[in-house]
Amino acid sequence: MDTEGGVTDRAAARLSAMEIAQLRASFSSITHGSHGPSHLAQLFYAALFSEHPQYRALFPISLEEPARKFTRALEFVVDNLEEPGPMTELLAQLGRDHRKYGITAGHYEAAGSALIAAVRSALSHVLWTPTLDSAWSGLVSLLLTTMRDAADADDLPAAWTATVVGHERRLDDLAIVRLESDQPIPFHAGQYLSVQIPQRPRQWRYLSVAIPPNPYGQIEFHVRRVSGGWVSPAIVNETRVGDRWQLASPLGGLEVDRDNGLDVLMIGSGSGIAPLRAQVMEMAQHGNNPRVHMFVGGRYPRDLYDIEALWELSLSNPWLTVVPVSEEDENPWWHTTPDPEPPPGMHRRLHGRLGRVVAEFGSWADRQVQISGSPSMIKTTVYSLRHGGTPPELIQHDPLV
Ligand SMILES: Cc1cc2nc3c(=O)[nH]c(=O)nc-3n(C[C@H](O)[C@H](O)[C@H](O)COP(=O)(O)OP(=O)(O)OC[C@H]3O[C@@H](n4cnc5c(N)ncnc54)[C@H](O)[C@@H]3O)c2cc1C
Repeated sequence: MDTEGGVTDRAAARLSAMEIAQLRASFSSITHGSHGPSHLAQLFYAALFSEHPQYRALFPISLEEPARKFTRALEFVVDNLEEPGPMTELLAQLGRDHRKYGITAGHYEAAGSALIAAVRSALSHVLWTPTLDSAWSGLVSLLLTTMRDAADADDLPAAWTATVVGHERRLDDLAIVRLESDQPIPFHAGQYLSVQIPQRPRQWRYLSVAIPPNPYGQIEFHVRRVSGGWVSPAIVNETRVGDRWQLASPLGGLEVDRDNGLDVLMIGSGSGIAPLRAQVMEMAQHGNNPRVHMFVGGRYPRDLYDIEALWELSLSNPWLTVVPVSEEDENPWWHTTPDPEPPPGMHRRLHGRLGRVVAEFGSWADRQVQISGSPSMIKTTVYSLRHGGTPPELIQHDPLV
């Protein structure tokens, strides 16, 4: 069978330099036009649902989030046509991930026609030349072929069902949810899963697993309530023991390289500690490990909600050093629970912006680095580290969308 990369490389190579230039110019004129960046996505959904009204039920009530993701993905592909590697990986991941919706060959064909119709409608003010036509047809064929081939090549189930067995409201706005899946899910420590909860049908969100996999199918998520969000408030406020969740597509490549001889720097903020925690818990099961320096940050001291578990891990694993950091020195007045005292030998909490505090320790040029947290935390921390001399190729983080 042909590799996904091979198919995409050839499809991308079929686009001439002129076609790529026209694609970029026309796409940019749509996304920067007066209708806003999601205009093409809106036209796409309109074209798709007018031809196939039954497909509307596959999508959530609000199309805002799917439209944003659609636009970002298309933007990424159009920007990376000459470098098929990252683009292929994104499209293959999307193809595998879309299996959870029950997508078939018919859906792909309908999506291709709807996308061409949307582009023609968005560009109705310009001349639809043969070059423009072949450029967009080539792009659509590239998108669909790569996604469909990756989906067909994946022999894992499209989704798994898991039962909530514990819901702990660790903070007012953060819950730890424990589940048991009907069958073990083949993820590795550091990965995230796509999750759908019964309170919010068809609204899938990514959550990082906070413990390593085990044969009993036990899963733990740490979920922060995003104010105004659709799904996270329902997980924190409404989830109950016994709820049945759908979990799909283990994704993400955060992983300690045991062969490159480098020690590890981990930087996690808020519930972003989850994938880092899963990895150090897994490492604790090995005899021999690289040294791990783990900085755990939050805005207030209260946001270091899991620090006691990490101290405990550090006390029994001398290769692990845990450094707590908070931006504010005091908790907000309404948080009345006292902060835990560090056990003897553990670092006391440092004060400041996480990225800046880490960078003040040195260049970290000889570490493999993992950063996990909100997109803005990841961006500012990458900036601080690179500014301090950390080589960018040593820095890993999950996608920012
Ligand atoms: C790879 C990956 C792993 C993730 N792992 C976790 C995890 O382990 N735990 C966890 O709690 N979340 C995690 N998330 C975030 C999660 O997927 C959701 O985006 C988040 O829970 C918000 O979903 P929502 O439906 O409540 O908000 P939405 O309805 O999707 O968004 C509502 C509004 O809030 C904004 N928004 C979304 N997320 C944030 C944020 N973090 N900070 C500020 N504003 C935001 C949106 O832009 C939008 O304007 C992860 C995201 C990614 C990409």
